[in-house]
Amino acid sequence: MMSTSTIGFPRTGPKREAKKALEAYWAAGAANGPQLLAAAADIEAAAWRRQAEAGVELTGLDGTLYDQMLDAVFQLGLLPPRFQALKASAEPSPADGPYAGGGGLDLYFKLARGAEGAPALDMSKYMDTNYHIIVPELCHDTAPCADWSPLLDRVRRGQDAVGVASAVPIVVGPCTLVGLARGEFDRSEMVARLAPAYAQLLRDLAALGVPEVQFHEPFLTKSSAEGLAADCAACYGQLAAAGVPINLVVPYDDVAEGTYRWLIELPVAAISLDFCGVPGADYGCRTAQLIAKYSFPKDKRLGAGVIDGRGCWADASGRALRLLRALRATLGADQAICVQTSTSLQHLPYDLASEPELPSGLPAPLAFAVQKVEEVVTVARAASAATDGAAPAEPHIDLSTYTGAPPPAECQLDEALFRRAEPYEGRRPKQVALPPFPTTTIGSFPQTPAIRRHRLAFKQGRLSLDAYRERMAAEIGFAIGAQEALGLDVLVHGEPERTDMVEYFGQQLSGFHFTQHGWVQSYGSRYTRPPIIVGDITRTGPMTVHEYEVAQGLTSKPVKGMLTGPVTILQWSFARNDVPRAEQAAQLALALRDEVKDLAAAGCRVLQVDEPALREGLPLKADRQPAYLRWAVDAFRLATAAAPPEVQVVTHLCYSDFDDIMPAIHAMDADVLTIENSRSGDEMIHALAASGYTRDVGPGVYDVHSPLVPSVEWLADKLRSYLQAGLLGGDASRIHVNPDCGLKTRRWEEVLPSLRNMVAAAQQLRAEL
Ligand code: GLN
Ligand code: ZN
Repeated sequence: MMSTSTIGFPRTGPKREAKKALEAYWAAGAANGPQLLAAAADIEAAAWRRQAEAGVELTGLDGTLYDQMLDAVFQLGLLPPRFQALKASAEPSPADGPYAGGGGLDLYFKLARGAEGAPALDMSKYMDTNYHIIVPELCHDTAPCADWSPLLDRVRRGQDAVGVASAVPIVVGPCTLVGLARGEFDRSEMVARLAPAYAQLLRDLAALGVPEVQFHEPFLTKSSAEGLAADCAACYGQLAAAGVPINLVVPYDDVAEGTYRWLIELPVAAISLDFCGVPGADYGCRTAQLIAKYSFPKDKRLGAGVIDGRGCWADASGRALRLLRALRATLGADQAICVQTSTSLQHLPYDLASEPELPSGLPAPLAFAVQKVEEVVTVARAASAATDGAAPAEPHIDLSTYTGAPPPAECQLDEALFRRAEPYEGRRPKQVALPPFPTTTIGSFPQTPAIRRHRLAFKQGRLSLDAYRERMAAEIGFAIGAQEALGLDVLVHGEPERTDMVEYFGQQLSGFHFTQHGWVQSYGSRYTRPPIIVGDITRTGPMTVHEYEVAQGLTSKPVKGMLTGPVTILQWSFARNDVPRAEQAAQLALALRDEVKDLAAAGCRVLQVDEPALREGLPLKADRQPAYLRWAVDAFRLATAAAPPEVQVVTHLCYSDFDDIMPAIHAMDADVLTIENSRSGDEMIHALAASGYTRDVGPGVYDVHSPLVPSVEWLADKLRSYLQAGLLGGDASRIHVNPDCGLKTRRWEEVLPSLRNMVAAAQQLRAEL
């Protein structure tokens, strides 16, 4: 028999109930704590019951009010010094429920959202996903001060919902917490310092009678985890002594060969591995090969993550069943195997049954979280039933060679398509002439309530297409007038017609499907609705030319054409898994290439192609990164190389640190690189100067996430610091002045003074030259 388990589920509720409860709490203030906790309890219980009723034997008790890493930080009491005083002065009340002991709900949310004098903990993309975690901040004298009441409370509720024998707590493992943390400290020592606090938790859980505890350790899939053998052995040795069986869950990729060899020796009861990896990744996932080569210890249960937890496709080909049979054949009848999803289902929409319209002619049927849980149960039953008896009719999977990667792409594109007609040195003098420290913005301007009203009216059929376009043209006109008045050098149309930088393009390209309720948590109360790539992607007509023309028709200054790059569109969509990601990126690139040509033909002289997700898609293993960077950069070049030499191609990168991929950024062959910089304390400037980057750059001069208006002096100092750091040899004609990112979440009352000061700072610096 094969058993079944889940390792995480959407925390949103089927109809975004969690978002509504959270936002209501923030609006009403701390007094609303009991309502928030009651709503969360209902959402969690419903999710757990759903899994148990589907037939899952061990239900992972997933749940969080904001983010699982924040939960770990809060419960371990790992507060950075700036929050210590807040904790000391906090006055938690019974309304804070189990959060009172750690400092209360208000403190919990302040860690994530900041408070007067105490900026929030940083946020960062989790592993290679678009989910954001709160980044733990540690230093050499950080000491845990644990209060696990919220988790213990969740476990009690879970036991009520699905029964004591089925309710399995989920904890962020110490190696992952420390591995993903920022600050100056010794990692091994920190893991050792946290271990007793985790051991205490295990003793409390033992008292509750839990069958086992899941420790999630995705950090162990990184190449750098190979060296963590001693830390893990010491830590899990100590934890195992607490007497509760531990299920070590290692999702998001296969583990490196060096890691696998010590991982399977750890003193835990079960190890859960990912057999799916990244959907559509050309390197597939080599977990099956590792098992074929090194086997798996008989005294541990193998958690077989054979159902893809983060791709939206059902396993129509029966891959999971074949894999399970092959595992059974290799490991023997006495090997305990538990069927699971490869990752938490938190990256998927809740339930396909909520979708009123599903497209036809898909490469495979869709499956959201509820359906994935059903698949786990069905495939486990089928695998258990058919292990003896007649040999299966379908082809057998050879574990020693199995990767599950999609077949390689066949199409060969001419190399010339990836090259601009003239090299940088030749084309640069032909491009727009701008003053030193040229000023610009990243694209979007405030999405005002009026804009949203017009969009809704259009969507509901109360506004005709012509009338809607008139309204948008008026918004563009306002943005152009404002930028002229501010004295900016390179203008943008402001993107009023775009709800979202990926959705806008997806809706105009063929090959995408948009769900109505397919919400996925990004962090806290922020959800996204990723489009699904359902077929080959083609452009059906110009997508942005009209808005560009409206804007350029109102000014003699250059207006930027504004596109989202192929890698970002792919990364923020559900990709196909029957075609390599590289191929899907190339299809997107070819579609965007036609748009580039049309914009150039319409007279566009500056063209920005945003790739904020370029870094996020980087594989977790170092040896897989060069191939990814090659196809990702190729896709960008394929999209943009059609621009004639006189068109200045700009790219924009944000949301990550880029210092480790500078050569790839250079290889993108953009004429200008605008990059988020202001929050990282100018690390980017030093990385750019150190890497010898030779193209024009626009390092963000102020943080768009903050409502604060930066002063002229502060901005001017910032620009002076670029010169002092030796950026581009201090050549001000090639240092562009722009904010960190788009301004769509800000209000005009903030945007106008900020940009006025930014232009004044640039003018001041010009006068000093
Ligand atoms: N052009 C986009 C905007 O300004 C870029 C957004 C982004 O980088 N995330 O909104
Ligand atoms: Zn950005």
